[in-house]
Formats: sequence, structure tokens, C-alpha cells
Amino acid sequence: MKKIQNYVDGRLLEPAGGKYLDNYDPSRGKVYSLIPDSSSEDVQLAVDAAKKAFPGWSAKTAKERSEIMNRVSGLIHENLGRLAEAESLDNGKPLKLAKTVDIPRARDNFSFFATAILHDEDPFYNMGESGFNYTLRKPIGVVGCISPWNLPLYLFTWKIAPALAAGNCVVAKPSEVTPMTAYLLSELCMEAGMPPGVLNIVHGTGPGAGQPIIEHPEVKAISFTGGTKTGEHIARTAAPMFKKLSLELGGKNPNIIFADCDFDKAVKTSVLSSFANQGQICLCGSRIFIERSIYETFKKAFVERVKALKVGPPQGEDSKMGAVVSQAHMEKVLGYIELAKEEGGSILTGGRTAPQEGEFSGGYYIEPTVIEGLEYTCRTNQEEIFGPVVTLTPFDSEEEVLKMANSTAYGLAATIWTHNLNRAHRVAAGVDSGIIWINCWLVRDLRTLFGGMKASGVGREGGYEALHFFTEPKNVCLQF
Ligand code: NAD
Repeated sequence: MKKIQNYVDGRLLEPAGGKYLDNYDPSRGKVYSLIPDSSSEDVQLAVDAAKKAFPGWSAKTAKERSEIMNRVSGLIHENLGRLAEAESLDNGKPLKLAKTVDIPRARDNFSFFATAILHDEDPFYNMGESGFNYTLRKPIGVVGCISPWNLPLYLFTWKIAPALAAGNCVVAKPSEVTPMTAYLLSELCMEAGMPPGVLNIVHGTGPGAGQPIIEHPEVKAISFTGGTKTGEHIARTAAPMFKKLSLELGGKNPNIIFADCDFDKAVKTSVLSSFANQGQICLCGSRIFIERSIYETFKKAFVERVKALKVGPPQGEDSKMGAVVSQAHMEKVLGYIELAKEEGGSILTGGRTAPQEGEFSGGYYIEPTVIEGLEYTCRTNQEEIFGPVVTLTPFDSEEEVLKMANSTAYGLAATIWTHNLNRAHRVAAGVDSGIIWINCWLVRDLRTLFGGMKASGVGREGGYEALHFFTEPKNVCLQF
């Protein structure tokens, strides 16, 4: 059975304690590889390697770092097919999605930040005869990057690429649920000539391998994407040490449909924004609010399309939805469907597992599920489910829908469908979310900022926001 290894000081290493965890293929519900169950000893080796590499890496010119990172990007591109297969097997997502979204985006994350550092500029403030000021940015040193399982290589590289580009050395931990592509990335980094110790990847659980990263005094900044509870714990651990923190956390995103929308596009895109990646994208719109005058028509068209979504093995050409990531997650999502029923919801379609045949009979498949008839304040509508489950709720006015949209603890993303541009801008300003899409969903320009407010996080990633997070800026004031 394939054994994943840690990547420390430019080498692939067994975990210091020699212990491994099972890694599951969710499409079959079977163990297919082993992952290091790393501990503080492994993290210490990684921090030592990163510290040793930092003077050399940070002294390189932006162009030199850019060249190495572009080589990694090129190798991700050359290995796109192999990486997509690995991602799909590890996560359960349709292979097509991994091929067209996850891996291309991982490639672009590297090339985007590799070129962004060539064009970055800092402010200069002229005080005339009194002198002038400029901002001097320095890399922080050793930083920690911790990522979740839903978009494994995509989100892993979204953190480590800006950290490396800015001149830091990284100790990174991918999710123990989906470690494979991060492991393959370590091989590509070696091939690309990434100097030893610049990027270190330690595999293992949150408590075993993540905790020693966040509490290590030499790890000066933490960029974390994952659940709100974990984010809270990380903030509590890291804040007393005054570490820089970027936290990208959970969401419960509203998808607001006004009667004057482009109906067909709103229905079609809402199916995607509800169920892409089995609903396991932090940006999925899980609460669909529909203006009452089109509620029934929208519901009918939406449910019809959802019923046509084929759930199947991720490798299947016609599978629109694959398996959810793990048995525990499947049980959590099914638990929420039961809760929705208890809370008075009616299941319009779905609501059950979607068993497959033959070798895939042990996999974790759930039907896309649409629920109506729930209060906007109930738990189903307030808590993050992070699976293929959405609720439909009618509304009568802009004021009412804003109240419902803003009623959760979260504030990550929102989608607004209307042809009335005044209203679109008004509602965009009124929704408490860090990311708003009007008449579209998941359209991304990597230069724009990304992140949530309230319990969805602290700080912003994306573009120069991410690069600057990984620097310590100082103002220099000079008088002639
Ligand atoms: P999680 O919080 O359980 O785990 C995320 C990562 O944190 C994993 O690598 C895990 O091992 C690690 N971790 C756990 N405990 C830790 C500890 N004590 N110290 C250090 N690291 C620790 O989240 P998950 O289940 O992997 O991911 C799903 C969540 O991620 C959802 O809530 C989803 O909304 C969120 N998410 C947010 C965004 C965003 O950009 N805001 C993007 C994707 C996913």
C-alpha cells in the first residue's frame, strides 16, 4: 500500500514516531494508502529546516524566487492528469471537476504569486521639505499554512504560494483527510529545484501535527482555512504569542433571487452553486431566498434540474456529483437532513444516501437534497452543513431578505440575482459577506480580495492582500 511521506529539508521522510494513519478512498469506502501520523518531533524538524533555509531564500531576488515558483507551476501543468486523478480518488470529487478546476487553479496559484512579486509596489509619501516616507516590506520568517479537505491542492497552494513568493519559509499541513496531492506536490518541488527547507510539508491530524505548528514560538504567522471551531481554537492559541493570523472559516451563504432575474441563468447557476463538489465548497449558497411572486415557478424548475443531477463514481464521465469526503461527514450531513425534518421541513427531492453498485457500494454518496418550509432562524438554516443540502425560503421585500440573509453567525459569500442594478448594489452593500456575486457565482479574478466577516474569518486572502499578509511592513521616514 502506498505510503505518503513528509517533506522536510528537501527530503521525503518517514514520521519520527514511525506511526501511520489510514487514508480512505471515499468513492469505495476503502483504505488505499497510509499517511504519516506526525507529531511535534516532525514539526520541530520542519521548523529547524525552515529556519536554516530562510536567510538564503529571503535574500534571493524576486525574479529568482519567481523562476523557481514558475517551474513548480509548469510541473503541476505537466502532471495535470495524474494530479487530477489523485485528487478525485482522495476526495471523492468528480474527476472532471479536479481536471478543470482544482488542479488548473493550483497551477495558477503558483504562477499568479510568482509573477505578482515582480509587479508589487509600496507607497511613498512625500512631505516636501520635511522629507519623505516609504514602506519597507520584509518577509516574516517561518510561517505555518494549514488547509482543509474540500479543495485540497487548490487551497493548499493558495496559501503556500504567496508565503513563498514573499520570501518566507513554510511549514505546511494539508488535511489528513486528503493528503495525497500535497505529497505529490513535494515531489514536484524537489524536481523544480526548490531549495531544501523552503517548503516543508508535515502530514497528520490536527491535534498531532497541526497543534505543534500553531503553538511553535518560531512560527510567526499562521494562515488557516477550515472550520470556525478550529479557527477559534487557533486564534486562542496563537493570539497570546502575537502571531499574525489569517483565518478563512465556515459559511452559510445566502443566494438571493429577485423576481426580475434572468430566470434560466439563475436556476442553472443555483444548481451549480448548491451542489458543485457535493456542496462542499465554502462558497456554495446553502440558503436560497426567492421572491414570493416567482417562488413556485423557481422551485419547480430548480427541483426538476436537481433531480436530473447524476450522483455516481467520481471517475464516471456523466457523474455530476461524486462521493462526500468521509463516512463521518456523510453521517453529519444525513444528521442535518433528519434535523430539518424534525424542524418541520419538507424534502422536495433527495434526503437519502445514493447507493452505488459493485466496487463502489461502500462509498459515501448522498442525493442532492432540497428542503422547504423551514423558519430562517432554525438550526438547519443557521448552522453550516457543508454538503449537498439547500433550503428554499420565500421573501416579500428587500428589507425582509436582508434580515434573513444576515441572520446567521457567518459572513462569507452571497449571490444576488436581479436585473435592477440599483437594487443589486444596495443589497450587495447591505449583505454582511466578504464576497458578493451579482448574477453569477464563483467567477474569480485572483487579484481580488477573498475572505469572510463575522464567524467566517479574520483577514483577507487573494492578490496583494495575501502577499502583504506574509510580510512585516515598516514605515521609514527620512529628513534631508
Ligand atoms: P477543520 O477545521 O476540521 O480542519 C482544517 C485543518 O485544520 C485540517 O488540516 C486539520 O487537520 C487542521 N486542524 C484541526 N485541528 C487543529 C489544531 N488544533 N491545530 C492546528 N490545525 C488543526 O476543517 P475541515 O473539516 O477540514 O474543512 C471544512 C471547513 O472548512 C468548513 O467549515 C468550510 O466552510 C471551511 N472552509 C472555508 C474556506 C474559506 O475560504 N473560508 C474554504 C474551504 C473550507
